Amino acid sequence: MKYRVITIAGLLLCMIAVWGFSGGWFLKRPVAVDATEFIMDTVVSVKLYHHDRKRGEELIAEAFKEALRIERMMEAVKGDGEIRRLNQRDSNGWFELMPELGIVLREAQKYHELSGGAFDPSVAPVKWLWDFEDGGYLPSQSELEQKLPSVGLENVTIHGDSILFLNSDIQLDLGGVAKGFAVDRMIEYLSSHGVESILVNAGGDIATLGKKPAATFFGAESDWVIGMRHPRLNRTIVLKWNPYPAVATSGDYQRFFMKDGVRYHHIIDPATGYPASKCASVTVWTKSAMLADLLATTIFVLGPGKGVEFAESLDSVETLIYFERNGNVESVMSSGIEGRIGI
Ligand code: ADP
Ligand code: MG
Repeated sequence: MKYRVITIAGLLLCMIAVWGFSGGWFLKRPVAVDATEFIMDTVVSVKLYHHDRKRGEELIAEAFKEALRIERMMEAVKGDGEIRRLNQRDSNGWFELMPELGIVLREAQKYHELSGGAFDPSVAPVKWLWDFEDGGYLPSQSELEQKLPSVGLENVTIHGDSILFLNSDIQLDLGGVAKGFAVDRMIEYLSSHGVESILVNAGGDIATLGKKPAATFFGAESDWVIGMRHPRLNRTIVLKWNPYPAVATSGDYQRFFMKDGVRYHHIIDPATGYPASKCASVTVWTKSAMLADLLATTIFVLGPGKGVEFAESLDSVETLIYFERNGNVESVMSSGIEGRIGI
C-alpha cells in the first residue's frame, strides 16, 4: 500500500514535470515573423523569430525605418540627405561627415586603394550619364571623356569624420555599398532589441544572425540557408557549410539595357567609363553585408582572374564568379569554397 502511494505520487510528479517543461516550451516558443518592403530601389525582406508576434512585427517596422534613414542619407541625386549635400557643395574645403558616412567612406577608400581603383564611388558622373534609372542611354566616347577626369577617389582625403575634396567636380554615389550597409544596420537594430534569429535580404545582399529555432519540441536549431541566383539559369545556388553571416551578389542582369545585341549594365569600370564586361555575376561571402556588397562590385570590375586573386588576398572573404566565354557560362571560385557549391 505504502509503495503504491509512492509510485502514484512519483508518476504524478513526473507528469507535472513533463507537462511544465513542454508546456513552457510551447508557450515560449518563438514564431516566425516576416515582412517585405520596397526600399533603396529593391525588395527588402526581413524574417525573424520572436516569442511575441506583435512585438516582432513592430521591430521589423522599425528596422525598415532604419533602412529608409540610410537610403535618405546616401541618396546621391534626390532629396536632402548627406551625400546629396556633399554633392551640392559650392566650395572645396573640409566637410564634416556623419559618423556612419565616415565608416562607409573610409571603407570605400581602403578598398579603392587595395583594388587599384576598381571600386570608386566617384564614378558617379559617368554612371549618371548612362541613365540606367530612366531606360538607359548609350553615351558617345567624347561624352564619356568629358566626365572621366572627375573620376578618382584619390582626389578625396578622409581624416576621421572629415572629408576634403581636391577636385571640385567630384560627385559621390554609394550605390555599390549602401544596401549592404543598410542590411547590417537593420540586423544591428533588431539584435540590440533582443532578437536572436534574423535574416535580412535586400535584393540579394543578405545578412543573418543566429540560427533558426527548432520547429518541434524534439527538433534541433538549424542554419539559415542563404542562396544566390545563377546569372543565366533559373537556379538558386547555396554554399554548403557556410560559416559567413553575409553574402552579396552583383550581376549584369540587375539593372541593364540592350542595344544592338549588347548588354549595358550599371557596374562601371572607372578606368574606361564603360560597363565592366568580364563578369556575369559575382557573389561574395564574408563577415558583413557592407563588405560583401562593396567587394562584389569591386571583384565584378576586376574580372574573374584578378578578382579571385583579390579575394584570396583578403581574410575571411570567399567569392564565386560566373562569366561568359565563347557563349558558354563558366565559373571560378576562391580556394576556400571549392567543392562546396550546391544547388
Ligand atoms: P546592385 O545595386 O544591383 O546590388 P552593386 O552593388 O554592384 O549592384 O552596385 C551597383 C551600383 O554601384 C551602381 O548603380 C553604381 O551606383 C555603383 N557603382 C557602379 N560602378 C561602381 C564602381 N566601379 N565602384 C563603386 N561603385 C560603383
Ligand atoms: Mg555592391
